[in-house]
Amino acid sequence: MRLAIISDIHANLDALRAVLAEIDRRGVDAIYCLGDIVGYGAEPGACVDLVRERCAGVVLGNHDEAVAKYRGLRNLPRDAQKAVCLHHEMLSGEQRRYLSSLPLKLAAHGCTMVHASPDRPHAWRRLHRPEVLGEQFYHFNTEVCFVGHSHIPDVVTDSPNVLRVRPGHRFLINVGSVGQPRDGDPRACVAFFDTDTFDYEAVRLPYDIEEAARKIRALGLSAALAARLFAGT
Ligand code: ZN
Repeated sequence: MRLAIISDIHANLDALRAVLAEIDRRGVDAIYCLGDIVGYGAEPGACVDLVRERCAGVVLGNHDEAVAKYRGLRNLPRDAQKAVCLHHEMLSGEQRRYLSSLPLKLAAHGCTMVHASPDRPHAWRRLHRPEVLGEQFYHFNTEVCFVGHSHIPDVVTDSPNVLRVRPGHRFLINVGSVGQPRDGDPRACVAFFDTDTFDYEAVRLPYDIEEAARKIRALGLSAALAARLFAGT
């Protein structure tokens, strides 16, 4: 089974389209999305519809929950709060209900998928400390767990001296962000994983950042949200 895994689209339709075009060019059996479809960007409704149409499974992200239910806003930066309020208004009731219905965690094809962390999915934890990362392996029972949330792609294994994703070991893989990468590379992230061979590939794709930034500014959202797309921060 060949999977494409995407995460943290953040209402960036230009980046999402670029990623889906590459997925279609390669051909996969199923696409999964790790949440945060909305928040930050200019086109939340189109992104929700496209993810809903194209993905076999989708989990809830903290921005999806904030937009759908006005929950957890205080934990977000000021410019993100403004985007949440605007997106709440921009989405239809049906789109908000769809976001509200998303599960926090799912398992498919021998992989666990969760937005932030498998131990406490609803705490929206950040996994930067090594001991916190290590603990996560006790909280999923598949060989591979895919996460997003930090917007920084990464592969962590529970075994020493394992330098690439391969069968016989366990992995916690952050697939990075489609619509707002934060590792200094502004190109959109998409991950490809073959559940039979364990071939894993993290791909970066250029997209029309100028256009995505222009739409953010046109909506009246913070100029910093547009600027960070160019910097990949
Ligand atoms: Zn995010």
